[in-house]
This record gives sequence, C-alpha cells and structure tokens, in this order.
Amino acid sequence: MVLPYSPRYAYYNGKLQSSTSASSFQTIDPSTSQPLANIHTTTHSATDAAISSAQKAFPAWSATPPTERARILQKAAALLRARNDELAKTETHDTGKPFSETSTVDIVTGADVLEYFANLVGGGGLNGETIQLRPNAWVYTTKNALGVCAGIGAWNYPIQIALWKSAPCLAAGNTMVYKPSEFTPLHSTVLAEIYSEAGVPPGVFNVVQGAGDVGAYLTTHPGVAKVSFTGQVSTGQKVAGSAATGMKYVTMELGGKSACIILPDADVEQAVDGAMMANFFSTGQVCTNGTRVFVPESMKIQFEKKLVKKMAHIRAGDLFDLSTNFGPLVSKPHFDKVISYIKHGIRADKATLLYGGLETPAWLAKHEKQEYRSGYWVQPTVFTDCTDEMRIVQEEIFGPVMSILTYKTIDEVVARANATRLGLAAGVFTQNLNFAHQVIGRLEAGITWVNTWGESPAEMSVGGWKMSGVGVENGKKGLEAWVRNKSTLVDMAGEVPTVFAKL
Ligand code: NAD
Repeated sequence: MVLPYSPRYAYYNGKLQSSTSASSFQTIDPSTSQPLANIHTTTHSATDAAISSAQKAFPAWSATPPTERARILQKAAALLRARNDELAKTETHDTGKPFSETSTVDIVTGADVLEYFANLVGGGGLNGETIQLRPNAWVYTTKNALGVCAGIGAWNYPIQIALWKSAPCLAAGNTMVYKPSEFTPLHSTVLAEIYSEAGVPPGVFNVVQGAGDVGAYLTTHPGVAKVSFTGQVSTGQKVAGSAATGMKYVTMELGGKSACIILPDADVEQAVDGAMMANFFSTGQVCTNGTRVFVPESMKIQFEKKLVKKMAHIRAGDLFDLSTNFGPLVSKPHFDKVISYIKHGIRADKATLLYGGLETPAWLAKHEKQEYRSGYWVQPTVFTDCTDEMRIVQEEIFGPVMSILTYKTIDEVVARANATRLGLAAGVFTQNLNFAHQVIGRLEAGITWVNTWGESPAEMSVGGWKMSGVGVENGKKGLEAWVRNKSTLVDMAGEVPTVFAKL
C-alpha cells in the first residue's frame, strides 16, 4: 500500500539515514485511523551515531559568533513561514488538529520563537556581566553552551515543541538530538531539512525516531549534557531521575490540572468564551487547559445557560474546511483514556452531565465521508455539580472535558484551586484589575492569565510549578536554560593573597 507520506528515518550528519533501523511502525491520521507513513525506529547504535554527529559539530557551532548563528536561524524562520500551509497540512494529518488551527498557530508560534531567540543572541543576549570589586579587581562572567542536548517531545504541538526546544538550544551554541513523539513524528525530519537548507551545519540538529525506549536511551547517554522534556508527569519523573544520575541539566514541561476562576464581578459572556478556550481548543489536548472551572454559586445558572448555547459554536468535521474548529483525539490509546474518564465522570463520580458525553457525535453518524467513522472523535463534554475529590476533577484528562465547580468566597476558591500537586497554569476573569492581581498573586502556578486564556508568545517565559515541571521555556529566562555560567575573578594588584608569606 502506498502511504501518503514518505518513510521517516533518523537524521544526522546533515542527512537522512535510511539504513539505520531495526523495526518500524506506522503513524496514523487520527480523523480516520488510516496510516500516513512508516516510521523506522532508530537503533541504539544509530542513536550513538546521532550523538556523535552532534558532538563533532559542537566545537565549531559554539564558536560561531552569535550574530552569525542568528542570521542562519532567521533564515530558517523565514523558510518555515514560507512553507506554513504545507507544514500545517502535515501537522493536521498527523495530529488531527483542524487546519484552521495548525495554519494559524503551530508553525507561526514555532517560527516566532526561532526568530525571537535569533534576535536575542544576535543582540547581545549571551553577554555576561562585569562586577567591579575593587579598583584593581573585577569579576566577569560568561555564558557558555552546554554541549549536546536532547529534546524529547509530546504529541500535542509537534513542530512547535521541536522549535521551542531547538531554537534557544541552537541559538546558545549547543547542538541537539531531538526525538519526536512516536504518535506525531512527521514534522521532525522536515524541520531538520529546513535547518540544513538555512545553513545550519551538519550535526547541529539531529533526529532519532521511536518510543520511550529510544527516549530513555538518549536520557541516560553520557554524551548528552542536558535533557529538555515535554510530556506527562509520570514520564518526566523517570526522565529527570535518570538524567540526575548523570548530573545532566533538565527542563521539564509537564502536565497540569489548571484552575480557571470566574470572579463574581466577571463579564459572563467573556468568562464563558474564556472557559471554552481553556477547555476545547485543540480538542482539549493542551497542557495549560483550565479544566477546573470555578464559578461563583450565584452565577452558576447564568454561566451554564450561556455556555450550553455557545457549545453549538464548536464545529467538528472535515479538518480542511476552515470553519471546522474541533478535531479528533490524537490516537486510539488516548481516545480510550478520555472515554474512560467520561464514563467515570458519569458512573462513578456521578457528576451531572451538562453537555456531550459518550454517544457517537451526531455529525459523525451522518457524514458522507465513511472513513471518519474509524477516527478517534469524541464529543466536547461538560460536567457540572462537580466536587474537588472527583477523579475527573483531580486528574489530567487531556481531552475536551470541562468540570464546573461552584464556590462562595475568594479565600475558599484560592485554597481549592491550589489544592493539587500540579501547578502549571491558572487564570481569572474579572472586571476589577486590583482584584485580578490580588487573586493571581495567591495562585500556585507558573503560567497565569487575566481575562484571556492560552496565548503563549515568544517573549513570555512559561513553565510549571510543583509537579508540573522544572525551569521555563521562552522569554529571556528561556535562554538561560541552555547555558552554563563561568565566573572569572581578575586581580591586577600584582600580589597573590597568601597565608604562606615569610614572617
Ligand atoms: P508522554 O510522557 O507519554 O511522552 C512524551 C515523550 O516522552 C514521547 O516522545 C515519548 O516517546 C517519550 N518517552 C516515553 N517514555 C520515556 C522514557 N522512559 N524516557 C524518555 N522518554 C520517554 O507524554 P504525551 O502523552 O506524549 O504528552 C502529553 C503530556 O504532555 C500531557 O501530560 C501534557 O500536559 C504534557 N505537555 C506539557 C506541556 C508543557 O509545556 N508543560 C506541553 C505539551 C504537553
């Protein structure tokens, strides 16, 4: 059977490596479950070769002046933008996200971050500081690249995650071996080719393919200085644990169960729009989703009435129809997981099902394209009358499942919002800005929003608190995660301080 996309292999030494795999698997289009391409798992010896290619490239790339690295990366950003729709089409096939979304968000936000870090290092972002200690002595610091870094990606924003990791990594003078998620690997070697076309030297950006065992091999490899990981908390714990054995630097971007707090004075219309963005964008497969929606008791009826009315604006269907704004879930295992949570919400938690649920979506039963019936489509679902101890309220579902909880006082809602081991994101809706800052200041989360949800521009450093992660990506602080500091004390007084002087 001829598949729509060419096979995917490892990429190192500046080229595709088509004879380095022991086994292969298929990536599928989740809207139909049809195969898209054969993916060849990278063997351990080929992973060694990818790391060695990155090691060989490191001395010259790290010594390349930042302005020159910046010029090359800016060219790659321009190539990404020029190929936006073609790359978005690939992402839509691989992830099941509507083209209306991938063509306006995924590549755009990836290219923006690449341009941001290129500009940052080109404009002196890697300069250290000078500290005058005494007239004859000062300290200067330098920011030094780490070496070969591993990037391990999740499946929800494939090319964006690859860019959010590789952009600051390469801009700072490191080299990278990147492993995409086995569920969404199509972008990986295309990105490698774009980097090469832009002038990134062979070995600076490399790709290996496969599942967790390939990731685990990378994480423990002595040739890797840093692991930047995006994925589930449970996987992050394993990755950080094995990285710690080799004392590697880590960045951990993990899961969340974020609180979206509607304050009593909020504009209800705006609050409903915000809660919908916080739950149904990307079919709910966004790490920062505000799945615990706290609504004042007095606003519950009004909020739910407006919400149910607006749920009709969620349109599933042909992913390339620009009016479609809701796709399938990414894979069969993920579909099974989300369905099991919806079942649990109805049968065990006994929350009230306000919208959606387990039935096959009505549009799907009628759609002329029969293949969609084998896809991983679920209904956007809203539970209400939820309580804090319910499993659907406590655990990350990572699907389009909103839980509405009511509260009476601000102290109560802040305490309940914080009563989780996760701390990725949080947000408030209110018309009173003083109130907004007071509440935001008390929330235990690394990414917060006021009267909006989900925007994550290149300038904004993002990362989770508590079990949701370690470190940040993006913004000026994002660059610091890819360098190590050297401090040098210079003394011009001509006398070396010593306790061994002659008496
Ligand atoms: P996952 O943890 O299952 O897999 C992530 C990656 O880790 C994949 O590439 C996988 O192959 C690899 N992997 C698996 N086992 C490994 C091991 N032992 N060692 C090294 N690598 C291993 O996560 P997922 O299901 O792909 O992604 C969804 C999760 O990602 C959600 O929890 C979501 O919240 C989180 N996420 C977080 C952010 C963020 O910025 N905080 C962004 C996107 C997604």
